[in-house]
Amino acid sequence: MSDASAPPTSALSVLMVASEAQPYAKTGGLADVTGALAAALARLGHAVTMVMPRYRVVDAAGRGGRRLPLTMGGRAFEVGLVEVPHGPRERVVLVECDELYDREGLYGAGGQDHPDNAVRFGVLSRAALEYAVGLESPPSIVHAHDWQTGLVPVLLRTRYSADPVWRRIPSLFTIHNLAYQGVFPAETLSALDLGSELLSIDGLEFWNQVSFLKGGINFADTLTTVSPAYAREIRTPEYGEGLEGLLVHRQQVLTGILNGIDTDTWNPWTDPYLPAPFSAADLGGKRFAKRAVLTRYGLPDDATAMARPLIGMVSRLVGQKGLDLVWEGRGALAAMDAAFVVLGSGERRYEEMWRDLAAAHPTRIGVRVGFDEGLAHLIEGGADLFLMPSRFEPCGLNQMYSMRYGTVPVVRATGGLDDTVRPFDPDTGAGTGFTFHEYRSSAMLVALEAALALYARPARWRALQQAGMRQDFSWDASAAAYVHEYRKVIDRRREADGERGE
Ligand code: ADP
Repeated sequence: MSDASAPPTSALSVLMVASEAQPYAKTGGLADVTGALAAALARLGHAVTMVMPRYRVVDAAGRGGRRLPLTMGGRAFEVGLVEVPHGPRERVVLVECDELYDREGLYGAGGQDHPDNAVRFGVLSRAALEYAVGLESPPSIVHAHDWQTGLVPVLLRTRYSADPVWRRIPSLFTIHNLAYQGVFPAETLSALDLGSELLSIDGLEFWNQVSFLKGGINFADTLTTVSPAYAREIRTPEYGEGLEGLLVHRQQVLTGILNGIDTDTWNPWTDPYLPAPFSAADLGGKRFAKRAVLTRYGLPDDATAMARPLIGMVSRLVGQKGLDLVWEGRGALAAMDAAFVVLGSGERRYEEMWRDLAAAHPTRIGVRVGFDEGLAHLIEGGADLFLMPSRFEPCGLNQMYSMRYGTVPVVRATGGLDDTVRPFDPDTGAGTGFTFHEYRSSAMLVALEAALALYARPARWRALQQAGMRQDFSWDASAAAYVHEYRKVIDRRREADGERGE
């Protein structure tokens, strides 16, 4: 290529393996991150191939690409590899295997995990590497994400370690959430064609079981997680989920890189889900979004309702997200002169809690149980405040979406929330949101009350909204940080390989 958009000569080729990626399949922030990171790397001139399963929900043309005979644990799988071009320098490879992926739910259905998840994601990991082995030139680096692809680094250093080309290729493993570990019975090893020697403390063994996440942490050449604060926290018993010792052991290669957000998809000036555009310079359109949300939830939208602060929550309704603080403080929350709009699904008791609250306060509390991308955008646009009282939060995206939409976040200062939301300082007016530290309902209520008090002072409130809207949460800096890590580990691996060869 000779045009100006040609990649730099030092361009890398990255093989990413992930269990979800936008725009193909999403259950949470992981998909936003993998999709946006791949695009940002491509914009920087690097080639990215994203390998992921073809779930039933994946809406992409083309079926039945290259066939890949794959046997695992004595079982033969009919695997197809469908290449989907996805913009310059970006390609998605869908791993087709209907018996594993063509079903309801990415990870489970009806509140139950799919019982064969170990095999489903074992096949994904194997297929990704087999696909890359079949390419003319190997990738510069393999980047795996979360427990579902924890076997990728393991396979590189076991099954492929004798290959002179592949043993030079480093792997980077990103922990998006340490709480999900992919732990299976010890017998699973043989179903995955992995040797029993891996059932050891420096292998995959975790309390006599097999942990995919531990495999990724142990075998990857380098590790990242999704915020600097979370990188520190997970080395402590409070946040380490039993893996803090191992993470301390590997801390030399563990870096926190803050996620960016997709600033095209999440742009209040161009967002098709909003009734009117708005920006930091022109906030006028935001009130149309507020009215639209109130209407969608069947809440009154008269002058009183429009003047009342509207608190939004879009979240998986699970303990991690601080729902027990909401539960404890539900009486005080409902008594506030504020309205709530909630979108989420998860544990039944939290879904019921919100439904009960909505039934008791039908003019001020609205709840939708389910997943609705458009409504999530509308809430970000229409709410005045956004509540995220997380017990832990590796990075969190919604607080960044909120700030970009002039919706002031009220968050517990943990993980990425601590790294992205600067607490409002009443003396100087500086800051971008409200934070609290102690994991107690009373601390959350104090922060919310402070936010509501400021809401009553429109000029100061507007300044706070605008400060948030002017933050730069784009992927550019984060993608450059990943490239830096890639290059570091590529050099390190080469040196190590050279030394071994001498
Ligand atoms: P996590 O990955 O832990 O769920 P994040 O804040 O990192 O949390 O990312 C959550 C992502 O999922 C955001 O893009 C958010 O808007 C979206 N999301 C969560 N629940 C829902 C829902 N019920 N409907 C639509 N989007 C949702």
